[in-house]
Amino acid sequence: MSYRLVQGELSFKFAAAHFVLGDTGCERLHGHNYLVEVQIYGAQDETKNLVIDFLELKPFVRKFVEELDHKILLPTENPHLTITKKKNELFVNFIPKNKKYIFPESDVSLLAIKNTTVEEFARLLSSKLIPLFSKHPNIDAIEVGVFEYKGQGCWMKRTRDTI
Ligand SMILES: [Zn+2]
Repeated sequence: MSYRLVQGELSFKFAAAHFVLGDTGCERLHGHNYLVEVQIYGAQDETKNLVIDFLELKPFVRKFVEELDHKILLPTENPHLTITKKKNELFVNFIPKNKKYIFPESDVSLLAIKNTTVEEFARLLSSKLIPLFSKHPNIDAIEVGVFEYKGQGCWMKRTRDTI
């Protein structure tokens, strides 16, 4: 038998500002009240009859959400964006348009992704959950959903074979 365990969006929300970058343009800075959901697929383990204990899963997701909550989210791997730190400020330049921002460093979360899309957020959180596969041989797949609001978002699924 296989089970699908859900750690849902009611528990995990974050409010953040971002802008999505293209080759020649970028969105205006704006915000969302993001929702995050995780689904774990697998059999019950033999000791506790669980797919995974909610108490073990929750801290992974909560840490991710807390790092992004009430922050300006910036991608560090986008070739069109430069981010330069001077004292406690970040000087940000969208190169194609020479569009510049200055943010207090404390208000920013720098993320090792290419763009601040829900696809990239889902991939980032999903990568943090990969250690669960080796710790729990009963887990077959992990699916992460990140939504800009209910009904608009992205699911990303990793199976044990495609880690
Ligand atoms: Zn947006």
